Amino acid sequence: MKIIMLGAPGAGKGTQAKKIAEKYGIPHISTGDIFRANIKNGTELGKKAKTYMDEGLLVPDELVVDLVVDRVQQEDCKNGYVLDGFPRTIPQADALDKALAKLGEKMDYAINVEVPDANIVNRMSGRRACVGCGATYHIVHAPTKEENICDTCGGELILRDDDKPETVLKRLRVYHEQTQPLIQYYTDKNILVEVDGTVDLEDVFKAIVRILGE
Ligand code: ADP
Ligand code: ADP
Ligand code: ZN
Repeated sequence: MKIIMLGAPGAGKGTQAKKIAEKYGIPHISTGDIFRANIKNGTELGKKAKTYMDEGLLVPDELVVDLVVDRVQQEDCKNGYVLDGFPRTIPQADALDKALAKLGEKMDYAINVEVPDANIVNRMSGRRACVGCGATYHIVHAPTKEENICDTCGGELILRDDDKPETVLKRLRVYHEQTQPLIQYYTDKNILVEVDGTVDLEDVFKAIVRILGE
């Protein structure tokens, strides 16, 4: 099963992608996580990506396409995978499509998690990320057992720099301009499905399981 998660920043793509990965036993591939790991490790890719990410802009297509095309050809992807945060532009989608076609493969579902802009800024200001393992929480909707301590690794939780309200508004603009056209793109390819992302995160997941099957 090969799945793409679509939706605005903060719609819950990562939250749902993790649950999908766990239930169906496929890897969760988050380009945002890959970039953040590269930044943490001080790689060349990380240095390049950071300048764009801090501004709330997309990292250029050429820095992300090969990375994902290589990743999906690794051994653990042979039964499928869930892409979170990729593709984010039409050229990225086209590049993925072409690379898969060469391998005789194609994506099965593009799941659009729908959340209106009005809910997003609020949701992002409550998001907390673990500095140790990258796990994501929310101070109200997905709290840790102990305040400010990661349930998984005991690491410290922070508000991501790009989750501050000014940057979130910019990321939303970028989303509408560059990423939202993918909804029509995957509708035309007959693989788009939509779920309401405003309900409780367990209920969002139930809706996804109804689509993907038990
Ligand atoms: P969110 O889940 O909140 O939408 P991500 O973690 O997916 O955020 O992405 C954080 C940042 O990383 C983006 O704002 C962008 O700068 C960069 N990024 C992640 N994936 C891509 C991609 N496929 N193309 C371009 N930039 C990306
Ligand atoms: P994305 O990957 O789309 O940027 P996340 O999965 O990181 O989004 O979710 C953004 C924030 O909203 C996180 O703090 C997360 O815990 C929280 N969240 C995710 N899904 C829901 C939901 N259905 N209701 C309320 N909060 C949610
Ligand atoms: Zn952690």
